[in-house]
Amino acid sequence: MTRTAVLLFTRDLRVHDNPALAAACEADRVVPLYVDDPGRASNPNQRAFLLDALDDLRESLQGLGGDLVVRTGDTAEQVQAVRAATGAEHVVCASDAGRFAAGLLERLESAGGLRVTPGPAVVEPGRLLPSGGGDHYKVFTPYWRAWSQVRWRETAPEPDRLRVPDLPASDELAPAEPTATDLPAGGERAGLARLDEWAPDSGDYGDRHDDLAGDRTSRLSPYLALGCLSAREVAADPRVSEDFVRQMCWRDFHLQVLAAFPALADTAYRNGGNDVWEADLTALEAWKTASTGIDIVDAGMRQLHAEGWMHNRARLITAGYLVKTLGLDWRDGEAHFAAHLVDYDEANNAGNWQWTAGTGNDTRPNRGFNHERQAGRFDPEGAYRDRWSRT
Ligand SMILES: Cc1cc2nc3c(=O)[nH]c(=O)nc-3n(C[C@H](O)[C@H](O)[C@H](O)COP(=O)(O)OP(=O)(O)OC[C@H]3O[C@@H](n4cnc5c(N)ncnc54)[C@H](O)[C@@H]3O)c2cc1C
Repeated sequence: MTRTAVLLFTRDLRVHDNPALAAACEADRVVPLYVDDPGRASNPNQRAFLLDALDDLRESLQGLGGDLVVRTGDTAEQVQAVRAATGAEHVVCASDAGRFAAGLLERLESAGGLRVTPGPAVVEPGRLLPSGGGDHYKVFTPYWRAWSQVRWRETAPEPDRLRVPDLPASDELAPAEPTATDLPAGGERAGLARLDEWAPDSGDYGDRHDDLAGDRTSRLSPYLALGCLSAREVAADPRVSEDFVRQMCWRDFHLQVLAAFPALADTAYRNGGNDVWEADLTALEAWKTASTGIDIVDAGMRQLHAEGWMHNRARLITAGYLVKTLGLDWRDGEAHFAAHLVDYDEANNAGNWQWTAGTGNDTRPNRGFNHERQAGRFDPEGAYRDRWSRT
């Protein structure tokens, strides 16, 4: 009997090292599906990137003899509709963390025939457990030690060919209306090209990743956020340094926190009585519109609005200024970043905001923050501030 599987793409928009694609290809026929679900958090900049990524994925699947069905609406309902239209017995989907992903996987599970494959992490959330008990690591350094020693999953083979049944029609997708003017091109091909451009010359990452004007970080984050690149393959790339791999481990760390604490984006992870904030709408507006009058903070916010991306050090400075200097609620900062970042990632955004606010996984939640000192240290010549000055 012919077995058909719906392959539901989510944050794994690629054909290389894609465990869900490899698993779906064990069936006789595969229905590749992406559902544009309004319930999934995103923003106009990330949407522009997503539309590129879907075009690129469709082209790759067509090259394998398949295609991509794109539907709009509630994901679980669309999966059921596509299953009914194609007679698919199975659904294959990558794991993920967060309220939306957990709710979706639960609904797919209750409909039956679901196979969940490894998701966006290098090491799946829940695989590493602290020796002292608990369902996840709360502190990064012991997590990094365990993560570095565990064996990572095997690379998933890329199929030579895709056999598809008669596919149902796709829906027309609403166009993106990005707010940023200088966005990177989305998609697997663009991501692999960026990796090939950056990795051979990345030997100074450890020394220079905090150099704001030098801009020496990989800028792979948008590709990792939507799975145009496999985090496992990027982390295993022989051209990248241990300092870089450690940053990739931070990504896994926040994902396993989110898996254990799905409310991370709006609820203090550790409420030691310090989740208490000022209400100053004028100051918040000035921060959002890059008009605080603090050069280094305004420069970061201008980069965010122009590129939909901000250097990590500038994210720390702008976030630290909002929560530690102005004393404003980290949730407002989290939401503003979530509305603009082309690399928006629920776990990384919420985890880093909470870390900065002292409500998250920082072992020194009350650490001080001085934006002048940060500017002097990480932008000593003022070149980053000049680049992103008002004029
Ligand atoms: C307040 C705040 C909000 C953030 N929001 C996001 C977000 O929404 N999406 C996002 O991907 N990253 C977020 N980060 C983490 C980090 O700033 C970005 O991942 C990084 O700047 C992306 O640039 P890059 O790809 O050049 O990084 P690189 O330095 O080249 O690092 C390689 C990869 O490692 C991961 N990584 C690096 N730093 C971190 C970190 N601190 N935490 C988790 N993963 C990390 C990313 O996947 C990144 O692409 C946030 C950081 C802060 C302080």
